[in-house]
Order: sequence, then C-alpha cells, then structure tokens
Amino acid sequence: MKQLIACLLSGLFLLSAFSCKVEQKHKRVLTLGIRHESNTFSTLLTKKSDFRVLRGADVIKGESWADVFKNADIELIPTLHAYAWPGGVVERSAFEDFMSEILDSIKNAGHLDGIYMDMHGALHVEGYEDAQATLIQKIRDVIGKDMLISGSFDLHGNPSPDFVKNINLMTAYRTAPHRDGAETKARAAQMLTDALKYGWSPHIEYVVIPILVPGEKSITEVEPLHSIYAQIPDIAKTEGLIDASIFAGYCWADLPRSAMRVFVVAKDKKYSAKAKNEAIRLAQQIWNSRDKLELDVPSGSIDEMLIKSEEYPDKTVFISDSGDNTTAGAPGDNPQVLEALLRHKTKNALMAGIVDQEALNKCIDAGVGENIKLTVGGKVDYVFGKPLEIEAKVVFLSPDSVMNTKRGAAVIEIDGVKAVILNARRSFIEVNDFEDVGLNPLDFKIVVVKLGYLYPELRDIAPVHLMALTSGFCNLDMRTLPFEHVHRPSYPLDMDMGWDPTR
Ligand SMILES: [Zn+2]
Repeated sequence: MKQLIACLLSGLFLLSAFSCKVEQKHKRVLTLGIRHESNTFSTLLTKKSDFRVLRGADVIKGESWADVFKNADIELIPTLHAYAWPGGVVERSAFEDFMSEILDSIKNAGHLDGIYMDMHGALHVEGYEDAQATLIQKIRDVIGKDMLISGSFDLHGNPSPDFVKNINLMTAYRTAPHRDGAETKARAAQMLTDALKYGWSPHIEYVVIPILVPGEKSITEVEPLHSIYAQIPDIAKTEGLIDASIFAGYCWADLPRSAMRVFVVAKDKKYSAKAKNEAIRLAQQIWNSRDKLELDVPSGSIDEMLIKSEEYPDKTVFISDSGDNTTAGAPGDNPQVLEALLRHKTKNALMAGIVDQEALNKCIDAGVGENIKLTVGGKVDYVFGKPLEIEAKVVFLSPDSVMNTKRGAAVIEIDGVKAVILNARRSFIEVNDFEDVGLNPLDFKIVVVKLGYLYPELRDIAPVHLMALTSGFCNLDMRTLPFEHVHRPSYPLDMDMGWDPTR
C-alpha cells in the first residue's frame, strides 16, 4: 500500500512538474503595429493603399526582434503590421480597418502572456484626437489591465500621457539619422521577454519638454544631443531600471502632444523616484542646451546655397530642399529648387526628384531622346509651390517592369540640369535610388534631394552638404508655421519662456 501511495505521489509530482514545464513552454506574445509619421500641415491625406501591410509569417521573417522571442521559447502570434512612408494625416477608414482587424485577432488569439507593439509614435488620424491612445485603450479593454505591453518607437514620435498610461515597457531609437531600427525593436522584445521571465511589474516615469525641434536640429551624432544620448545605456544598466528613451518628437504636427520627451522604465514602482530623477536630469540637460539645437551644416535660402556651392569647386555638393522633405511628410512636388537651378544657369546639377505622375506620363508618351514642353510640380503642394513650365529632353525612362511600380521614373535634361520625375512620393535616400535611374550622384557638381538631413548612406558619401531653407510643409523654422493647437508655451514659438522639469 505504502509503495502504491509513494508511486501515486511520485506520479502526481512528475505530472505537476510536467504541467508546470508545459505552462512555461507556452508563453505566447501577440504582435501588432501601425507605424506612421503624420504631418498635419500637409494637404495630402495618407490612404489605406499607401500602407504596406504584413500579416502572420511575413511579419516575422528575418526580423531579429522575432528571434529574441523565439530564443526565449515564446510563441509569437503576429497580427497586422502596417507601415506607410511619412505623409499627411491618415484617413479614418484605414485606421479603423487596421484597428478592428487587430482587435479581432486579439479576441481570437486564445491565451496570451504579452503584446509587442511595433510603432512609430507620430500617428495622427482624421477625426481622432489621439488615435494611438484610442488603439491601446481598446486593446486594454480586451486584455484587461494586467497583461504586459511592450512597444518600440521612432524617437520622432509624440506618445501622449493617455497612450503611455496603458503601456508597460517602451524604448525608442537612440540615433537620428536612424541606424538602430532593428536593435530598438529587439530591445523592446528583450524587455518583454525579461519582464515575463523575472516577473517584473514595470513602471514608466517621464518628463515632457516643451520644445518643438525638427529632426535636422536634433541629430544624435553631434552636440549637444550626442553626449546626452550617450548617457542612456548607463541609465538602463542602473539597478532597478530597464531602459531610457529620449524622444526628439515630431514637430510638423500641430497637436497638443507635440514636444520632446524623456522616458525611463523601472522594473518596479519602488524604483519610480530613481526613474523620475533620471528623466528630470536628462530633460534639464536638453532644456539647458535648447539654443544649441541647430543645424550641423551650413544653411540659408536656396539662392545663398547655390552661391555657397561655388566655394567647393572640386567637390559634389548635396543640397537639401528641406521644406519639401518627403521623409518628414511633405508631398515632394514643389519645383522651386529646379526653378532656382535654371535661373542661376547652374551646370552639371541633378534635381532628385520631383513627384509628378502627369509629367511622367508625358515623358513616357514622348520617349527617350525627344524634346517636350512640360508643366512640372506644384499640384499637391499648391500652398508653397507653383507649377513650373519647362522645355526638356527625355534622357531616361525606367524599364516597363519598374515603371508600373512606385519606383517608376524619368530623367529629363534642361540646359545642363538633370531632373528626375517620379510617379510616387519618395526621396532619394540611398545610392541605390540614383542607380535605379542610371545615375551616380558623385558625377554631378550639385545634387538636390528632397530631404532634411541626409540619410546614413548619403551622409557617409557626401563630400559637402548644405541645407536650403526652402518653404513647404516641413519648414525648418518653426516660427513660420501656422501652429494653433500645440500646447503653449513651447520653445521656440515662445522664445523667452521659462521651464522647470521638476514641476
Ligand atoms: Zn524618425
């Protein structure tokens, strides 16, 4: 009998050990994402068709953040991940379709241990005060208040207090221009994995800094931000803390939440004072250096920049048409710089590029080698741009297989100036974008791009970079934009304001 009881007990023990193991083995994390940087000044709505939407296995293919979960033996349930190039406010139906698909997936997912949100942080949707806050609140309504949610963000996001109250773990890029996207997402995954493993109850402290700064004036590779961002890894290693993020914010959004921010994530509420102190310390440093948040390259009007380019006779000079920066949401169809290149009788210059489907169609109809009259640009950005009449020779057309995609383009030549006419809104951010239209940027004396700062690959090859302070929906001078809804006071709109991060 004793033997039988011992046998039964050991059997029960084995069974419970097994079921315990089974439980551990089956931690499940659902993933989702709606990533967009929404420029509220733009006249161009971002439509559902502008989003690249991935679901299921396509979401996690080749992603290092997914490997973090897999290596921790966590089962992933990847749902909808939508991403669109920065642009105008997102159309309501697109967001609502995405949100309802995500919520349905959560309801049907079965048991979950956590959620990972792959976000940008500057999403704005027509008809919503704060769509990101609505999304996460609706998720909470389904999953309850206890399940951990971790999120990764672009440091150009503006996550509001209403959003942050529902997230447990968050981390943002630590580089601008961005070089650490994959690393940041993997960190958000690791934070969630660790929190589940060690049973943390994470707590977020933050400070909102009333500064509106464009990305071009908040580059992390140069001072004053370089040495401020450099403190983040050490803060994240401090006992009781998990991570810290500095959000430069997204300034081309006329919304109450547009500002800079510092977030510090603690393992537990008992470290909240420590987290808050670190957030205040970083915020104070940023506030103290606010007047040093300036461009790291020479800048001025396009006329001044074209004259300045003559100071570098043997070098290719990259000039940013910064007011019409499509990577920050502008339409990319303002022809003002092309007009200036022609007026200055500039030779060996490249305008890369101008978005104009109608002009591109005329180039296609004419064919390579033909001379045509064209009206270029000024159709979407009719606020700051006006159409430019030119006579040009078509010198390149994308092959048919490319012409039917968003990368279709023509190259035209006007009096020694080449211009790329694009069929879809995009910027030349990599060498590959030039190669696609048969060009090497370094063959030109002047290369104009519709960017603010140069993206890493161009930044690395550009011998000289000048910033033309052109007008447009991404104007670099905050004081020229018609802000109405942003929380005031805010620097530099209110130059003389005082501020104390402890209040
Ligand atoms: Zn960004």
